[in-house]
Amino acid sequence: MTAAVCLECGHMKTGAWKRCPGCRHLPKSLEDRARHLITTDHYLSHEKLEAVSQQIQAGQAPQFVDTQVQAVMQQLQSIENDPREIKRRRWLKLKVHLILLTLGGLIITAVWLWLSSR
Ligand SMILES: [Zn+2]
Repeated sequence: MTAAVCLECGHMKTGAWKRCPGCRHLPKSLEDRARHLITTDHYLSHEKLEAVSQQIQAGQAPQFVDTQVQAVMQQLQSIENDPREIKRRRWLKLKVHLILLTLGGLIITAVWLWLSSR
């Protein structure tokens, strides 16, 4: 079970790409799915997810770094568009993982700055 945050309404949900039980939002676009993948308990602690959730519910958009969201999107796209990539999937997953670890750190910083500025 993957704990995730709906980036539309801040509702906690299970599974990054599942429909939100709060607002019915379903991440469909590549960018939306990349962002939802980043805000799961695979990459952020539950405390950080809660903080992101509260941030969104308070009307603040979570801060992502565009170039890194783009990098995750490219990885997702190459997995989905090329059947030959399935063999290399483990490597790609590892690459996505490394990108997300970096991203997670940046989100944490953004959330911390947001929380400390209140
Ligand atoms: Zn929602």
